[in-house]
Amino acid sequence: MAHTLPAATGFLVSARKGGGQAPGPVFATRGAHESVAEALRNQTFDAVLVHSGSPGDAVARAGDTALVLAGELYNREELLTLLPSGGDVRTDAQLVLALLGIYDLHAFRLLNGRFAAAAALGDRLLLATDHAGSVPLYTLPAPGRVLAATEIKALVPATAGTPPAGRPVADARRVRRVPGVHQVPAGTVLDLDVRTGTAVPHRTWAPALSRRVRSEADATDAVRRTLERAVEARTGGTTPLVVLSGGIDSSGVAALAAAHTDGPLDTLSMGTDTANEFAEARVVATHLGSAHREITVPTADLLGQLPYAIWASESVDPDIIEYLLPLTALYRALDGPARRILTGYGADIPLAGMHREDRLPQLDTAVAFDMATFDGLNEMTPVLSGIQGHWSTHPYWDRDVLDLLVPLEAGLKRRYGRDKWVLREAMSALLPQETVTRPKLGVHEGSGTTSSFSLLLMDAGVPDADVHRAKSLVVREIFDRVVVEGLPPAEVRTADAVHQVAARLKETE
Ligand code: ATP
Ligand code: MG
Ligand code: MG
Ligand code: MG
Repeated sequence: MAHTLPAATGFLVSARKGGGQAPGPVFATRGAHESVAEALRNQTFDAVLVHSGSPGDAVARAGDTALVLAGELYNREELLTLLPSGGDVRTDAQLVLALLGIYDLHAFRLLNGRFAAAAALGDRLLLATDHAGSVPLYTLPAPGRVLAATEIKALVPATAGTPPAGRPVADARRVRRVPGVHQVPAGTVLDLDVRTGTAVPHRTWAPALSRRVRSEADATDAVRRTLERAVEARTGGTTPLVVLSGGIDSSGVAALAAAHTDGPLDTLSMGTDTANEFAEARVVATHLGSAHREITVPTADLLGQLPYAIWASESVDPDIIEYLLPLTALYRALDGPARRILTGYGADIPLAGMHREDRLPQLDTAVAFDMATFDGLNEMTPVLSGIQGHWSTHPYWDRDVLDLLVPLEAGLKRRYGRDKWVLREAMSALLPQETVTRPKLGVHEGSGTTSSFSLLLMDAGVPDADVHRAKSLVVREIFDRVVVEGLPPAEVRTADAVHQVAARLKETE
């Protein structure tokens, strides 16, 4: 099956006792909307799907159970072996529904994918994220009516006026300034009782805390094979587009994708008038023979797109927003038909690449901390490319890749004076030597995003020492406009938020 996009890339669902209206759908994700209504024995289950042509493939119904799935699975083949032969299972939604029939909510412990799911059965609504929570999922539960959506902004209208003030949800993070709305944690199924609105969380995945000793050969071989499988599962028989910086992470993905693509791979690099990595990316594109493009975004435009990055990611973390801003600009500049995009995003988290730390205790402390705190940052959200109608997916955060990389003992991550050693060694036969040994450069550095954002604030009068705090305030200010108040990002100006924050900081001096 060759699909550019999953059957659905977002949803809003309402599960309720008796009648009532579901709220109208509001998404940053681009796509057609399709309404689904399923009258079950004990509840009414309504959904609006964001899709690109076959919304029916994102819905499954059997007996008194209905399910919607946004996103896709990467271990279909092994999951199919769990079903009795002769079953009619064509789509990922049908597969998850069939597994629910056998395992109930434990079905979600089996899945390797990039998805959010909602399933209605009896008086229950199950809300599930993938192991990494890579497709964000939010809920507004109340007695008699539970709402859930892949974007906060789809739930905001329901928080105004009439009741559902919402109920507390154990273990779930509240959303800033949106009463009653909680984010379903990563690697979790919430088992909600629609009658009472109460939720019981079940963790379905957690990053390893132990570390494994492996020989160099064994570790590098496992990394190459596991990453290759993750890339292959994500190409879906299409010609993917790899967003390529010429760093080891995206270059590794591009090399493996090229091997699984008939004909040349497509690669794309972005830069600004301040900084770019074009020369380094070109080395890789030439080596792989990819059809390569470069996009230059003026720095003023880049900073002007902050409202889009926040609108799409619904993140309030200023560091994350600096990583996501150049990618937002890249995706927004990518006109034309919908693409399946592979990235090298996230490799630095299990390998502690961005910490530039060569002491093993500190390196493993960074891995343990980052793997314990990624949830809720929305770093991996598909909405970032979804605002332009594209689907992005990140092989380094494949469940099997993480289950391999996280527990490698720190001496395999830093070795012979080299960071991300095991990955570099695993890719060394597939890439030019200068790419394999190239020092890490973050996307926020290579595009000049961090320094340009700092300069913008200092030009507005923010003192050096306050710049990071000011960035955080600017991000919150914009979040309140584009997510909480629901203003379109085109109507929100970065400069206004910067001047407001600068003025506020001056007052409190
Ligand atoms: P390294 O971490 O070693 O620098 P990398 O550049 O591939 O490798 P990051 O810098 O962590 O990884 O960036 C994350 C991902 O974002 C990349 O893997 C790539 O997919 C994408 N990306 C980063 N910079 C660019 C760029 N200038 N153009 C296109 N895509 C980019
Ligand atoms: Mg090829
Ligand atoms: Mg990286
Ligand atoms: Mg980089």
